[in-house]
Amino acid sequence: MMKKTDIIKLIRPNVRSLKAYEAKEIKCRIKLDANESPFSPLPADLVARDKKLFAALNRYPDPEGKALKKALAGENGVTSKSILLGNGSDEIIYYLITTLGGPVLFPTPTFVMYGIIARALGEKAISVPLDSGYDLDMDKMLKAIKKEKPRLIFLASPNNPTGNCYSAERILKIIEASKGIVVVDEAYQPFASRQGFLPLLKDYPNLVILRTMSKIGFASLRVGYMIADESLTAEVEKVRLPYNLNTLSQAMALMGIKQMKLVDATVRKITSERERLMKALSSIQGVTPCPSEANFILFRVSDPDMVFDKLLKQGILIKNMNGIIRNAMRITVGTRAENDLFIKALNKAVMEINREAK
Ligand SMILES: *Cc1c(COP(=O)(O)O)cnc(C)c1O
Repeated sequence: MMKKTDIIKLIRPNVRSLKAYEAKEIKCRIKLDANESPFSPLPADLVARDKKLFAALNRYPDPEGKALKKALAGENGVTSKSILLGNGSDEIIYYLITTLGGPVLFPTPTFVMYGIIARALGEKAISVPLDSGYDLDMDKMLKAIKKEKPRLIFLASPNNPTGNCYSAERILKIIEASKGIVVVDEAYQPFASRQGFLPLLKDYPNLVILRTMSKIGFASLRVGYMIADESLTAEVEKVRLPYNLNTLSQAMALMGIKQMKLVDATVRKITSERERLMKALSSIQGVTPCPSEANFILFRVSDPDMVFDKLLKQGILIKNMNGIIRNAMRITVGTRAENDLFIKALNKAVMEINREAK
């Protein structure tokens, strides 16, 4: 009989050394930690009216997601064949690394899943620090590309958790210098003031655009997609699990795209709230916000651990980034009322900490 302790010895070392992604639920009144939208754009009666949908729950979903792909193709001005659907863009990151293998290179700090998934799949993960303005450090990037010959490079722009877009020129230089695939992860593109990289797809066959519906009001659906040259999409299709996107998600995502006007209205509210939040943060002594092109703001305080606890005591959950970026915290833009409560609570927390320090 095998002992329980022997099981661990069976685990591949690259998996054994990983830590499970921490996504535990913390109870709170106001949730501003996960870059979700505070708005759910679809009216409930529109959803409930879809009787056909609920009558089809006994059947497997459309394995190809034809209707959703067609709508996304129209929305983005590309062919259906250049689109691959994922259960969140996380899954597509998994598929890309499975398809291409490593080394996998990315600037840091950035979205943690590139590194976690690369290591889970036993591939080498190479992180290159961003420069002091959180832009791509071209010396370091180009050197690493030359030396490590990455098969995959992930560039999140706007970047999470820093909130800025990388310089378009620098991204372009990397696409041109790379002999591997360059994925521009545009999870936050709807909130950005600059154009994304989609128009460049036709000129650069090694470019992949990653998009998601998670940050624009549909996080629960887990719908992400990539747009790439049809020949590359066809290869990644080979590793995609047949029914990776369930029927409800396909239908709701399709509804979301058909109601893009409603979605856009929520995006505009969020970007205008972001500017208001930015001003409010700048006006608090001891708080330094970073410019943002996303639906969140990174800011520095002298004691983030204490600020985190004090906010949570008032029911407000934000993300403590201390440990990844010194003294940094990340706040997701909420509704106007939520943002007001947050600013009030932050003011109070910072004042208390200052008083206690004296
Ligand atoms: C949130 C996020 C994702 C993941 O989105 P899902 O589609 O929900 O899996 C991908 N990239 C970046 C940079 C993100 O911040």
